[in-house]
Amino acid sequence: MHLGVISLFPEMYRAVADYGVTGRAVSQGRLVLNFWNPRDFAQDKHRTVDDRPYGGGPGMVMKVEPLQAAINAAKQQLGSDTKVIYLSPQGQVLDQQSLVTMSQRQSMIVIAGRYEGIDERLIASQIDEEWSIGDYVLSGGELASMVLIDGVTRLLPGVLGDEESAQQDSFMNGLLDHPHYTRPEQLDNQAVPSVLLGGDHEAIRKWRLKQSLGRTWLRRPDLLAMKTLSDEQTALLEE
Ligand code: SAM
Repeated sequence: MHLGVISLFPEMYRAVADYGVTGRAVSQGRLVLNFWNPRDFAQDKHRTVDDRPYGGGPGMVMKVEPLQAAINAAKQQLGSDTKVIYLSPQGQVLDQQSLVTMSQRQSMIVIAGRYEGIDERLIASQIDEEWSIGDYVLSGGELASMVLIDGVTRLLPGVLGDEESAQQDSFMNGLLDHPHYTRPEQLDNQAVPSVLLGGDHEAIRKWRLKQSLGRTWLRRPDLLAMKTLSDEQTALLEE
């Protein structure tokens, strides 16, 4: 996937470009990240990227022309039909299904806002989708866009090996993940559930499914209410 990022602070993206699963995806060429900084497109000698809001009041707004020029430059490289995403607390709240849909695209352009955000007319004319990472306000869109980039990247083909497959993760099948254990077998007075030590793969699969169902029922009944359960899942939940 080719991702164009528009941000006043491209250095922040080292957090995804250099580390862990996303860093590996970049070094393997499965994720290509390019950056456009609106400051590089500012025309005045101070390279101004913010401006006062019409109507007055506190805060500044991202200056239109440098941002517009950065979007144009990104589209020129990624293609004019590439979806342009603005990270915004006013967008649709991101969930796993939206990330799955995004992960099937060839490319995307993501815009990280700063200040009070971007001019409403740019949203109307340039932005295809507005996504929020939750009902709270951050000071910039960089962290929010890195959440989106990380979540999408781990779904790209070949990024996670079989061993760490995303298919088992919470939300992928409408349930929370089952609990995980590693050595030691005994931790103070807590033992690893014996079924996990026996090597009976079918018993382990059933136990894990039952745990998934149980903790989803306890912690996120809203997920269960939206899910159509299989006969096996219904039976396990009723056990
Ligand atoms: N005045 C805006 C409002 O209240 O809707 C908030 C602007 S916020 C201080 C600056 C930037 O941070 C936004 O333009 C956006 O890119 C990003 N941002 C803040 N909270 C976010 C969230 N929950 N999800 C996605 N992006 C967010």
